[in-house]
Amino acid sequence: MSNKTEQEKGVAAHRKLDNIQLYINGEFLDGQAGETFENINPFTNEVTNYVAEGRKEDMQEAIYAAQKAFRNGPWGKMKVKDRMEYIHRLADLIDEEVDEIAVMESLDTGLPIHQTRKMVSRAAENFRFYSRMVQSKLHGESYPVDDEFINYTVYKPLGPVGLITPWNAPFMLETWKVAPALATGNTVILKPAELSPLTANKLAELADKAEMPPGVFNVVHGFGETAGAELVSNPIVEAISFTGETVTGSTIIKNAADSLKKTSMELGGKSPLIVFDDADFERALDAAVWGIFSFNGERCTANSRVFVHKNIKDDFVKALRERVTKVKIGDPMDSSTQLGPLIHREHYDKVTGYIELAKEEGCEVVQGTVPEEVSAGNFIPATLLLNAKNSMRVSQEEIFGPVMAVIEFESEEEVIEAANDVKYGLAGYVWTNDIKKGHRVANAVEAGMIWINAQNVRDLRTPFGGMKGSGIGREGGHYAFEFYTEPKIIHVAMGDHYIPQFGK
Ligand code: NAD
Repeated sequence: MSNKTEQEKGVAAHRKLDNIQLYINGEFLDGQAGETFENINPFTNEVTNYVAEGRKEDMQEAIYAAQKAFRNGPWGKMKVKDRMEYIHRLADLIDEEVDEIAVMESLDTGLPIHQTRKMVSRAAENFRFYSRMVQSKLHGESYPVDDEFINYTVYKPLGPVGLITPWNAPFMLETWKVAPALATGNTVILKPAELSPLTANKLAELADKAEMPPGVFNVVHGFGETAGAELVSNPIVEAISFTGETVTGSTIIKNAADSLKKTSMELGGKSPLIVFDDADFERALDAAVWGIFSFNGERCTANSRVFVHKNIKDDFVKALRERVTKVKIGDPMDSSTQLGPLIHREHYDKVTGYIELAKEEGCEVVQGTVPEEVSAGNFIPATLLLNAKNSMRVSQEEIFGPVMAVIEFESEEEVIEAANDVKYGLAGYVWTNDIKKGHRVANAVEAGMIWINAQNVRDLRTPFGGMKGSGIGREGGHYAFEFYTEPKIIHVAMGDHYIPQFGK
């Protein structure tokens, strides 16, 4: 048992790490070109370690390995029960290292440690959840026809699948894909985001420790235009599950079209949170603040647009002004930190640019302050854009930082129209104590997921994903199960039914 305080442990956690490699066919390897790229700690802006850069030829090796493991290797022929043993072993290994994985995730992304810890525990549960689902759902339907035929369906894995993930919640988003893909019997090539490679490497180490057969799970670090592009266009790969920016998703769909791949797209958002004048004021306020400033605002379902009814707007804004100055900025490794540094200097510049734009567009900008002692990090304080209009660019474009646009509304019709007047449709939040109005608005807002009087909580059985520019398809529950399998129909004759006798 360590006597160190959380704070001391946090400081120690900002450490240099060993360089990391690609994981292909059960081996840790350098890229064939021998190149590496820097992995930067967003709190210090120092290099944490170097990462082997996988390129086209490395990606091809991983794809061949995944194909071999699926077709000729043990994975494709393995009994479900045995496959699930590997899945459970992996979940147990994640559980054993929750603290260490959370530290790595915070080191890599700047996300506060109390948030990464929760996400990592949930990641292990993803594997157990899909193991249970496969064992209870991996069956089809049967259709007897007049005692002459029986038709039955079976669900088959697709083969080698490509998983491409972003940097904002890497480990959880990777396991959302890896768990159902492996549990349903596919082999996997994971291309993690180049800005957050640490926990994907950890997953490779744990898969190795779990003695996953070679080629079943591969991790190729590298850039989107090289490693990612090969994964998307290679005809051996049967499907691409992608989470990331809307514009990247659109490129991937185009590039995947030549080889007719199945694709799943989890993309950006600009989600509304609507507070009516009959809402529970304090709870709505808590939810609005948490929903945009948690996860450093780098969250696809963040409520970046907050619509407040005219009757309560002044009070709500007054309370928001007080809250933003008190959101605790600090070391992501410190358990009391609420807002950490943004992932990268370039992203910091992008978010800062939007705050400048907000001023030009006529908003009043209200912010907390960044303490001097953390000024080396990519910190942007909790920020309010007051007097925003829904038509402004800052209300229409995904900023992906701790920036809330506050927009006044008067009627239910007006707020529904404004909430929907955006290219995205990922999430939405409605705060009202009028149950009929809550359901009406929830049904009318164009989004894949709506919460009424609730913050962003979700059961693993429910569908996750968006409509419009926020995506195509859903993850989670049986939706992921269906994405990673192909239903096959088998028709069997039980007697000698009539067959036309051509040419007899
Ligand atoms: P991004 O699109 O820049 O990158 C995501 C991944 O795609 C990375 O691994 C990248 O290397 C790869 N990539 C880039 N170009 C590629 C190409 N041409 N071919 C193949 N792969 C390519 O996204 P990001 O900046 O890492 O993540 C932030 C975005 O993700 C935000 O828009 C956020 O809303 C979105 N997101 C969505 C969800 C959701 O479930 N809807 C969840 C989390 C994040």
